[in-house]
Amino acid sequence: MTDKVSRWRITRRSFLKGVVISGTATALATQPGYKTPRARAQEAAPPEPGVTYAYTYCDNCNHVPKCGIKAVVKDGKVIGVEARENYPNSPLCAKGVATIQELYDPHRLLYPMKRTNPKGSADPGWQRITWDEAYDTIVAKLNGIKEKYGPEKVMFYCGDPKEPRPAMQRLAYTFGSPNYCNESSTCAWAPTLAAILTYGQGTMGANPTEKTKLCLLWSKNPAWSEPHLFGKLIKAKENGTKFIVVDPRVTPTVEALADIHLQLRPGTDGALALGMMNELINKGLYDQEFVANWVQGFDELKDYVRDFTPERAAEITGIPVDRIKAAVSLFGTEKPATWLGSASPTTHSSNAVQNHRGILAFMALTGNIDVEGGLTFPTHALPFDLFAGTPQFNRTTDLWPQIRDKRADTDRAPVWAHFFPEIQANFMPEYVKEGKIKAIVMAGGNAMMWPQPQEYQEALENMEFGVAADYYLRPWTHNYMDMVLPAAMPYERMAALAVFGRRVFLREPIIKPFGEAKPDWQWMMELGSRLVGPEEFFGGSEEKAVDAVLRFATGKGIEEFRGKPEGVFIAPPGPEQYRKYESGLLRNDGQPGFNTPSGKIEIYSSVLEEFGHDPLPTYKEPVESPFSTPELAKKYPLILNTGSRVPMYTHSKLRDMPILRNLMPVPIVRLHPDDAKARGIQAGDKVIVSSPHGQITVFAEVTNIVRPGAIDIFHGWPQADANKLVARQFDPISCFPAYKEGLCEVTKA
Ligand code: SF4
Repeated sequence: MTDKVSRWRITRRSFLKGVVISGTATALATQPGYKTPRARAQEAAPPEPGVTYAYTYCDNCNHVPKCGIKAVVKDGKVIGVEARENYPNSPLCAKGVATIQELYDPHRLLYPMKRTNPKGSADPGWQRITWDEAYDTIVAKLNGIKEKYGPEKVMFYCGDPKEPRPAMQRLAYTFGSPNYCNESSTCAWAPTLAAILTYGQGTMGANPTEKTKLCLLWSKNPAWSEPHLFGKLIKAKENGTKFIVVDPRVTPTVEALADIHLQLRPGTDGALALGMMNELINKGLYDQEFVANWVQGFDELKDYVRDFTPERAAEITGIPVDRIKAAVSLFGTEKPATWLGSASPTTHSSNAVQNHRGILAFMALTGNIDVEGGLTFPTHALPFDLFAGTPQFNRTTDLWPQIRDKRADTDRAPVWAHFFPEIQANFMPEYVKEGKIKAIVMAGGNAMMWPQPQEYQEALENMEFGVAADYYLRPWTHNYMDMVLPAAMPYERMAALAVFGRRVFLREPIIKPFGEAKPDWQWMMELGSRLVGPEEFFGGSEEKAVDAVLRFATGKGIEEFRGKPEGVFIAPPGPEQYRKYESGLLRNDGQPGFNTPSGKIEIYSSVLEEFGHDPLPTYKEPVESPFSTPELAKKYPLILNTGSRVPMYTHSKLRDMPILRNLMPVPIVRLHPDDAKARGIQAGDKVIVSSPHGQITVFAEVTNIVRPGAIDIFHGWPQADANKLVARQFDPISCFPAYKEGLCEVTKA
C-alpha cells in the first residue's frame, strides 16, 4: 500500500501559514461559551425534514472519549457534527470536528486481509478474506502455539483506542496467557506507580476548585493536549487562582495561565523538585505538623536536599534562581494549592519514577494533601475503570492469579510486575529474542511509538503469528503482521463509558460500520467464543458483553442506560470528605493513614528499598546530557525533547484529515531563533536532526516557544519518526523510555 502521507506536498508559504492558524483554531474552539455557526443556527431553527440528531463522543485527544458530539444524521449518514449541549465537555476542538472526515476517509480498512507474501517482503501482498477465514486461521495459529509452547507465549496488546481494554484482558486470561499489556506501558502508569509508592494510591493530581488559591501545572499543556480542560483552567484563573507552570517551552498554556513560569531543561524535573524542597525547608515554609505526623523519611530527605540549593537547581535546570525561590514563596503563602500533572512528560526520562516522586514529595511537604481545593483523593473511589472494566469482568480476580507466574516481565520489570497485572510492553523485542513471546493479538498498536522502532518491527516480524485490528492499514506496523482486521470507529460502535467520574454513559452506534468493519468488542467476543467458548464471551455478542460489564460495574443493565445521552449518575454511598488519612478512609484495612506499608506518605519508600532501589527521590542526570556526557555534547549540543503534543494531531493520529492537515502538513522541529541563527537555518528550511542513535529529515520552525539550546520535535510521522533519535534507555523502576532527554544536532539538509 502507498504511504498516504507521502502524497502530500507542501510549499514554504502554506507551511508557515499552517503554523500560525493552528494556534488560532484551537484557541477559538476552546473558548468557554463558544458555539459553532451551525449550533447557533440550530438553536434558532428546528432540524430540516429527514434530519435527526444522535449523540456520540470524540476520543481524539486521549484515546478516551472526552467531548460529547451531537451528530447530524440524514439518510443513514453523518452530515455534520456539533458540540453537545448539557454535557461535561463542550465545545469540540478542531480534532473533534475532524471525526467526520476520519469516519468517511476513503482509505479506511474495510475487510479482513491476510498477507500472501512471506514476512520480510517489501509488499505483504494483502488479500481480502472473510471474517470466518480470519477467525479459523487465528484460532488454529493460537491453539497451535498454545499446544507447542504454552498459552503464555501469546501476547495480547491494546493500543488506541483504549475502549477494548476490558475485553482484550478477558480474552488473554481466559485463553491462559498473563501477557496482556497496553499503551499505558509508556503513558500513565509510571506516574501512577510513583504515586502508589509515595501516597499509596495512583493520582495525576486534582483540578483546581473554587477554593484553590494556587495550581502547580507541571509539564502539562492542556491548550494543546486536552482542550476540554483548558477552558476550565482559564475559568479558574479568571476566578483568582494563581498558576505556576513548569514547562521547557512557552506554550499557550504558559501564556494564558502562568504567574510564574519555570522553564527547565528537559529531563531535569527531579532536580527542580529537590531545589524547591531545599528552599521550602530552609525558609520554614513546609507544613511541619503534617510532615511530623504523616510523612516517612523527612529527616533523610532533609539531609539529601541539603546540597540541592536553589542555586544548584538553577544551574542544573537553567531556571533563574529567583524564579525558583519566588515559586516556593508563593507556595508558602497561597493555600490551598493543588498540583496537576500529566500522564507522562515528567516520566519520559531515565530517572522517571524518582523525578516524579520528587514532585509528589514537594506537594507532601506543602501539606496541601486531601484538603478542599488541594490535592485530593476521592472519598468513594469507583470500583470500575474508564470503560466500566472491573476485576470480575476482566478476570483479574479469578484467572490471573493462576497464571501470573508465567508473565514475561518479572525479571526485567520487577517493581512494575509487583503492582500491575498488565505486563510492561516496552521489552517486546527482548521477550521475542528470549523466546518468551511467539505470537501477538493487537488492537490499535503502533510499532512507531517506541524508541528505535525498527527493533519492534523486527520483533513483530520474528513472531510466528501476528494479527492486528485497526482503522487503516499502517505499513510501519502491519507490514510485519500476518493478518489485519478492520475496526469500527466510535460512530459505529457501542461502549460503556465511565470517563466523567460517577456519571456513566452508554455510547450506542449511530450508523452501521463501513464495509465489514467490526467493533473491537464484537470481534473480541466472537474470537473468544471460538477460541475458548461462547459461554465465556456472551455468545459472541458485543451488546451482551457491554451489558455484562455495566452490570458488574454499576449493578444496572444496559437497558437502564439506553436513550440517556445525559448518562446515569451512580450515587456515592456518602458525602465527599477531606483529611481522610485521619479517619481511615484511605487504607484498605480501615486504619488511619495512607495506603502504604508504613501508613505514611513514603518519601522514603520501603518498597523501593526492598527492591534494591534508592528509597529517596534521588536525582540522576539524563544518561546523555551536557553534564553527564560532555564529550558527546560537543558533537550533539542541543537537548532533544520529543513526544510533546500539537493542537491538530494526537500522536500519529489524524495526519490525513484535510482540515487538520492544512495546519501542519509536514514534520517539523521547533528551534529557538538563537540556535537557528547560529546554524544558518531559516523558518521552513529542510533540516536534518541527528542524535547518537539516528537521524531524520524535517522542516524547521524558528520560534521562541522553545528555550535556547533545546529543540522540540513531534513524533508520529512515518517519514520522519522522531523515535529513531531516542535511545532504548529505560527508567530502572517503571521501565519507561526516555523520550524527553538526550542530545542532538540540527543542520541544514
Ligand atoms: S478536546 Fe478535542 S480532541 Fe479532545 S475529546 Fe474534545 S473534541 Fe475530541
